[in-house]
Parts: sequence; structure tokens; C-alpha cells
Amino acid sequence: MIWNQQVEMLSRADMTAWQSYKLAKLIERVYEKSILYKSRMNEYELLPEKIANLNELKRLPVTTKQDITANYPYGLLTMPVSGVSYIHTSQNGKKNAAMSYTRNDMGMWSELMSRILVAGGVNVTSIFQWAGIMEEHIPSIGISSGIQRIGATLLPECRSSKVEQLRSIEDFGVTSIFSTACYLLQLACEASSKGYKPTELPLQNIFCDANFVSQNQSEEIEQVYGKKPNQVYGIYDIWGMGIAGECHCNAGLHIQEDCFYPEIIHPKSGQVLPIGETGELLLTSLTLEAMPLLRFCTGIICSLDDSPCACGRTLIRMRKSAENNCS
Ligand SMILES: [Zn+2]
Repeated sequence: MIWNQQVEMLSRADMTAWQSYKLAKLIERVYEKSILYKSRMNEYELLPEKIANLNELKRLPVTTKQDITANYPYGLLTMPVSGVSYIHTSQNGKKNAAMSYTRNDMGMWSELMSRILVAGGVNVTSIFQWAGIMEEHIPSIGISSGIQRIGATLLPECRSSKVEQLRSIEDFGVTSIFSTACYLLQLACEASSKGYKPTELPLQNIFCDANFVSQNQSEEIEQVYGKKPNQVYGIYDIWGMGIAGECHCNAGLHIQEDCFYPEIIHPKSGQVLPIGETGELLLTSLTLEAMPLLRFCTGIICSLDDSPCACGRTLIRMRKSAENNCS
């Protein structure tokens, strides 16, 4: 099933037109409202009218995590704090970082997580639980609201022990779980040692944080649980989960590109690379209201694939490179 066919199956031409339209609006807004971006655009002599389409975006400098910590807590806001409905704080090294979201931004997370969870098999009859991820982390906020939007049942994390977690999955008939690869494998070990068979658990859909899963771990999870995990990508301390997610085609993670415009750059030269080449993923948030970021350096090494996917979705896919330091 596809949650939002209108967007997820949009033609490439229509998606590009939408992204160009949103980009032009975004550039105008950050030039007017963001001290950082205005000063950078002036420095590079790039007035908003000079970045009227996606091809010209590459003329702008990138945004880094250091830019976010240097502008902590409100320096990158494009509106008064009264317009903010949620603030997520984190530590980047020894420095503080904060991301602000409006009510519409939070609504967007809910929509994006609904698309990704449905692509992974969640439906209105699913009983969903996250495991091994602290409840206050931003991924769980987006995931919870996505589950509610779909109309599935959300079960709070069982925090006491892995044995209790396994019992919780059995008692409540949990069909869908979101966790890290490491925790899922530990849970499978615990299950085996206590006489449970992971393949006999009621789980039908397994979601894994794409930041913390290697190819080997993914294969191991499939082996022990009898199901391939669906990876979900987000940036924990910046944008949470919901930027990209896998369908069942094993063909990469579909990027929610109506909201996040992706580019791949050469990690050293910074030059934009053509589709299919491997480099660092940059993302421009096209729709975020409170703290939009232009060309944010994700640190993820991947390539992009815009060929048709067997699932019917036209959203571009990111294929992570083995160079990423997953553990
Ligand atoms: Zn697909």
C-alpha cells in the first residue's frame, strides 16, 4: 500500500517543478528572515533572484552542524519564538544544539513517518512498539505521531529488561517494531537463551534505524527473525526520523523529496556529483518553517537512484555506501 499516492508517485517532471517552486520561496524567506543565510548570500553576492532554480542551489555554501551549534539556541530561527511549538535539544561534541519546529513542521513529520511506516507494511490493524530507543529521543516523537495518523495501535516501550520486552511482544501481539540493529540482535540472543524462537514472535514488520545498521547486521536480522528489516533514515539531533525509508524492493531508501531536496557532493572538493555517483549527502529542507536549512551536510556517504522502483513509488532512492561507519 502507498500512503500518499499523489506525492509518492509524482512524475519526475512534476516533482522537479514542485521542488523548484518551494526552493524559490525558501530562498526568499531565509534571505529576509535568517541572519546567517542573509550574510552568506551577501558575501557570495547571491541575491534570491540569482538562485531561482535547483541547478543554482549549488552556488550556495553548505550548512554544517557547527553552524547549528554556533547559532544555538535561536540564531537560525526564521520567526519569533512564539511561533515555535517544539524544541529539540542535543549535544554535538561538547557544544549544545537546538532545533525548533512549528506545529506545521510537526505535522509534516507525522505525514512523512506515515508514508515510511506504510511502505514497511504498517496498517490500521498493526500493533506497533519501539524498543531500545529512549522515549524522549526525537525519532520516537515522529514515529508515534505517524502511527496515530495511520490509525494503528501504539504500545509504549517496555523498558525493564529484554526478557520483559519479549514477553510484551508476545502478550500484546506486537506486529511491528522499530529499534536499532544492535538491540534487535541482542533481543534475538536473549530470546534464544530463554527458549523463545524469534521467528515465532508475532512480528510482521521490523524497522531499523538506518544510522546504526550495517549490511551484515541487516542480513543477520533477516536470518534470525525471518524478515528483512526496513531501514528508516533521519538525523537524530537535527531532523529526527522520517527523511527516507525502505520499501520492500530492497532497492534503497526512498527520500521524501517533496520536503528534502538531496544533492551528492564530492566529500573533499565539494563539487556536486551526477546521479549514481557516490559522495556525501546534502539535504535542503524545502518545507520546514521554523529552522529551514540549506544544503545541510549529513555526513552520510551514499549514491542516488532515480530509476523506477518496482513498488510504484517515484521518490528518488539513496543507497548507503559501505563506507558509512555503522555499528
Ligand atoms: Zn520502492
